[in-house]
Amino acid sequence: MNTARLHQRFLLCSGADTDTRKIRKDSMFFALKGENFNGNEFAEQALKNGARYAVVDDKNYAKNQEDYILVKNVLETLQKLALFHRNYLEIPILAITGSNGKTTTKELVHAVLARKFKTIATKGNLNNHIGVPLTLLSMDDQTEFGIVEMGANHLMEIEFLCTIANPDYGYITNFGKAHLEGFGGVEGVIKGKTELYKFLQEKNKLIFLNHDDDIQRKHENYSHTFSFGENKGADVRLTYDLEAENAQINYNNTDFKSQLTGSYNAKNMAAALCIGLYFKVDFKEIHNAIENYNPTNNRSQVVESGSNKIIMDAYNANPTSMHAALENFRKLKTNKQKIAILGDMFELGSAAPTEHQVIANFAKNSEFAETYLVGENFKNTDCNSNFIFKFRDTDHLVEHLKESEFSNCYFLIKGSRGMALERALDAIKK
Ligand code: ATP
Ligand code: MG
Repeated sequence: MNTARLHQRFLLCSGADTDTRKIRKDSMFFALKGENFNGNEFAEQALKNGARYAVVDDKNYAKNQEDYILVKNVLETLQKLALFHRNYLEIPILAITGSNGKTTTKELVHAVLARKFKTIATKGNLNNHIGVPLTLLSMDDQTEFGIVEMGANHLMEIEFLCTIANPDYGYITNFGKAHLEGFGGVEGVIKGKTELYKFLQEKNKLIFLNHDDDIQRKHENYSHTFSFGENKGADVRLTYDLEAENAQINYNNTDFKSQLTGSYNAKNMAAALCIGLYFKVDFKEIHNAIENYNPTNNRSQVVESGSNKIIMDAYNANPTSMHAALENFRKLKTNKQKIAILGDMFELGSAAPTEHQVIANFAKNSEFAETYLVGENFKNTDCNSNFIFKFRDTDHLVEHLKESEFSNCYFLIKGSRGMALERALDAIKK
């Protein structure tokens, strides 16, 4: 079946689904294959659960021609359909990539643009070769603006995601030490992320830039740019207030006080402001949207429990975001005892020992009341101090936290996803 005909059928559906446990009535089910599963086996169940069509790529599972759509490759079909749908909708699409802060920036930009446009953005963190098409297919005739988060852990991935989403606008949050293994170093990260700029430049589209970032500034000679920053030459000139407890910026003599901990979030707010101004969202609405955005996703979230405060940044970690979070924690003015709980950072390849050592040293020099290092990588670091404690894994950490009494402490919890450090929160709260 060609994509145009498939799309006609898709328009009769309520959306695209890939999980039989969460089928929406009248949706189109895509029988994707994974390492441990074959979606084709679930096609019949999907139809029973209410799907209107099941797209399969194994003829043994295509029982009739009314309900089953047999294709060569379900994943490729999903991606092609997403592009077709995106072009059919003819709405502006903004792509956001970068090493850190994509989701937070996406959420902030979404909050801002939603004040003017019916906006659909990537849900949660669905930012890969499956998540991007699903995001596009979640947009419909009512949608006026689309925001697509794009993640990558190797070269050519952003370029590929661009061929699916065909964005009109792009923003790169930063270039950091994330997924070094797949990119082969920071130069690779820069090359990989700027595939977005390259795509937009070739299509004569616009890129949003952080004028203060040396690497981003190099792209200001592109045909269409709109930038923000503290330095002269930025289209949106603002200042960052690094003394404030939460991330804060000032623009047009107005303070924007966020509910986000971490001064690095000021950049993410600035990007949202810049993009809002470009699309002429009412200034008061932009201000309101940014100030009211409250994260509930373990990113830059502050939780209070009795006399303790906990910065929950347990969603993920890499050397750049870990360093930014620690630096922020170090500077934080408080009369509470600071306790940093740091979990291993994954996907660093051969850079892992050095990067963990650098972070361990940084924690040691920061002189927190206590630092807990959790995981195999941190275990192998060399950092003798009476205030640093090592735990083999999260289980051992949780055990320790449960047995301890904390009062008037300020915690920072940060580690890679696989460390599941959010478990520490419940143990502290008990
Ligand atoms: P993922 O790759 O998991 O999708 P992401 O790029 O979407 O991550 P977020 O989930 O928004 O990033 O934030 C993850 C963490 O990165 C934050 O909790 C914070 O520690 C750090 N971070 C956020 N913004 C920035 C930034 N602009 N610069 C450096 N670090 C940042
Ligand atoms: Mg994300």
